[in-house]
Parts: sequence; C-alpha cells; structure tokens
Amino acid sequence: MTRMLSFVGGTVLTPFREIPGGTLVIRGEEIALVGKGVPTRGEIIEVQGSYVAPGFIDLHLHGGGGNDVMDGSPEALAGISLAHAKGGTTSFLATTLTAPWDEIEGALRAVEDAMVEGLPGAELLGAHLEGPYLNPVQAGAQDPKHLQEPDLRRIRMLLENHPSIRRVSMAPELPGALACGRLASRRGILVSVAHSDATYSQMLAAAEAGFRHVTHLYSGCSTVRRVMAYRIAGVVEAALLLDRFTVELIADGHHLPPSLIRLVLRMKGVDKVCVVTDAMAAAGLGPGRYRLGKREVVVERGRPPEGYESSPLGYVAILPDRTAFAGSAALMIDLVENLVRNVGVGLLDAVRMASATPAAILGLRDRGVLAPGYRADVVVFTPDFEVNLTMVGGRIVYERSE
Ligand SMILES: [Zn+2]
Repeated sequence: MTRMLSFVGGTVLTPFREIPGGTLVIRGEEIALVGKGVPTRGEIIEVQGSYVAPGFIDLHLHGGGGNDVMDGSPEALAGISLAHAKGGTTSFLATTLTAPWDEIEGALRAVEDAMVEGLPGAELLGAHLEGPYLNPVQAGAQDPKHLQEPDLRRIRMLLENHPSIRRVSMAPELPGALACGRLASRRGILVSVAHSDATYSQMLAAAEAGFRHVTHLYSGCSTVRRVMAYRIAGVVEAALLLDRFTVELIADGHHLPPSLIRLVLRMKGVDKVCVVTDAMAAAGLGPGRYRLGKREVVVERGRPPEGYESSPLGYVAILPDRTAFAGSAALMIDLVENLVRNVGVGLLDAVRMASATPAAILGLRDRGVLAPGYRADVVVFTPDFEVNLTMVGGRIVYERSE
C-alpha cells in the first residue's frame, strides 16, 4: 500500500495563496490534497505555528557542507545535497566553474553518476555550466587563466556526451557565443547571460539567439557606460527592460542591497525573478579559509562599507584581497529570510521566488507548487526561518533535532 502522510495545522504557502490552519496530504511521492478542512490520511505530522511551503529550487550552486561540485565526485555531491537540504532546498543544479576541460568533464561525469545513484538530500536536477565562455572584463571570482572563446564544435560534443547539462551561462558578446547559444537553446537548455560586458544591442542579439535568463544580475554584468558624449546601456538595463529575460538574484543580503532587489522586482515582478545561493563549499559551515575550485576564499562576517543601506547578517565568501565575492555562504532559507526581513518582500512572494519561479524558469512542471499531482517536495519552517523538516519526493531527508 502506498504510504500516506498529512501535515496538519500549519500555514500552507502554495505559494500563490496562504492557507492558515491548512492540511497537506502526501500519497507516496506526490501531493494528494491541499486545503482547509480536507480529510487527513495516514501518519499525522503536527506543524502548528510553522509554515509549510514547496521545497526550494536552487538553479545556481557550487558547493556546500565543505564540498565543491568541482571535486568531481558523487560523494561531494551527496555532501552538497545534505548541506542544502538543511536550508529547505529540495532540487538543485550542480554548477561548474571555469577550469581546464578535463576538470569540467570530470565534474559532469560525477553529476551523471550521482543522478543514476540518487542523492541522500536535495535532488540533483543536472548540471549548470558556468564558464569557461565568460568575458575576462567581468570575470569576478572565475579564474581568468582558463577563460576561453566559445567553440561550437566543442560545445556540440559536450552536449552530446553530457545529457546532464540543463543550463549554460556564457557571455553573448564573445565571438561565436551566439551560435553556441542557439545550439544549446534548440536542445531545450536554459541559456543564460553571465559575466558579460555586453551592450544593449548585443543583448538584443542574445535574445534572438535564444538567451533567456541573466545569471546573478548585477554581479559580473555591464551597466550604463559612456562612450564619447553618448550613453550605452548594458546587461543590467536590458535585463530589467526586456520581458524576454528572466533573472536571478543572489539575495544573501551582501551581494545586493535592498534597493536594487526592490528595483528589479518593480521592473520584472516575482514571476520573472528567482533567488539563487551561488553557494560555495562553506555554505552551511562557519567562518574560515576554503577553496572555490582552485582558488582560496575567505569566509567571514560581512563588513559592508559605509553607505551600504542595511546591516546584513551572516557570512560572506570573499577573495582574500576582498575585491570580489566568491559566491555566497548562504542556504536558500537565508535568502527567503533576507527578502522578508531586510527587503520588505511579502512571505508568499519570497517563497515563490525560491520555488515556483525557479521551477518555471528551468521548465520544471512537476514541482515548485503545493497542489495535487505535484511532487511532494516540501519545507516546513518557523516564523524565525528555522527549517524544521525537508521532504524530497515524499521522503523526509532532514528533520531538525530539538
Ligand atoms: Zn558567477
């Protein structure tokens, strides 16, 4: 008989409406019923005083729990999967870094092995290739030594050999990038503008070639520049203005001040903006010295400069000279908390940007919403943003001990 289970007494965030005192009934791997006063079935889990939301979907994540995707092992991916499940994540894309091709392919093979084996925490959706086709001018923490010009033959071969690739981030203004983007987009891969110095016109050409998303908006993105007496708009303005593009924000409170997040939301709305952790190995751990791929990274309390609008909590991952962030040390629940507490986003919208919106952006139709027939990916968290329970496909993968 299929196992049944009911969450009872919490506030359900579907996340299109809020149902106080709602019930969520799970049958096997799926959601059977959602609502107020619906009949409970099977085992009862009392969640009074807590929120019941769709599990979070992280489309941009490099590591966690001391592990890096570039370690290239299924064990590292298992560690990442467990570390992020503690923050309410139920699905993620393992994101590679700019590195020599054999290392990138090693990481992709590990992703493919882990997808066959299955992971103990959050589910691995596939791979997100970030680099090496990025603009050196906007490299950020990506290793400039290994940046390359886009190569159609190489990318064709890579996509043939690695069906796990579901997303590619690259700079569309590089020679050959549009052809690579077209090829990937035709295969149903999410093609994203990243670490790019593109002008507005180049962004229009990118849109025509199938680029649909912008990677960590404001980080590694060109903005208005002046050429002689003229202003040339960049990636940021094109992303804000063109409905064709969805965007992602590293909403850890450090990468972006509240004003910029509000600006993006006012321009695009919660259905076009998702949040991502862009987390590195230290996510879920404390301060110290870590590695991001081959580079050293310091994790410490954030020290925003004078003039920064808010006093964000939590740790940052930063290059040792403190000139650039190197991903974040956050989990998805930290982003939701920051949106609600520091940015003034409503809880439903904050949850939506971490669940239904990223699902839609990647074209996932089976998750991201609490409604009958969807996968039973669920997070239960308190009003203090403590995750009490994470469920992946009807299986409890994390439970907070009292
Ligand atoms: Zn990046």
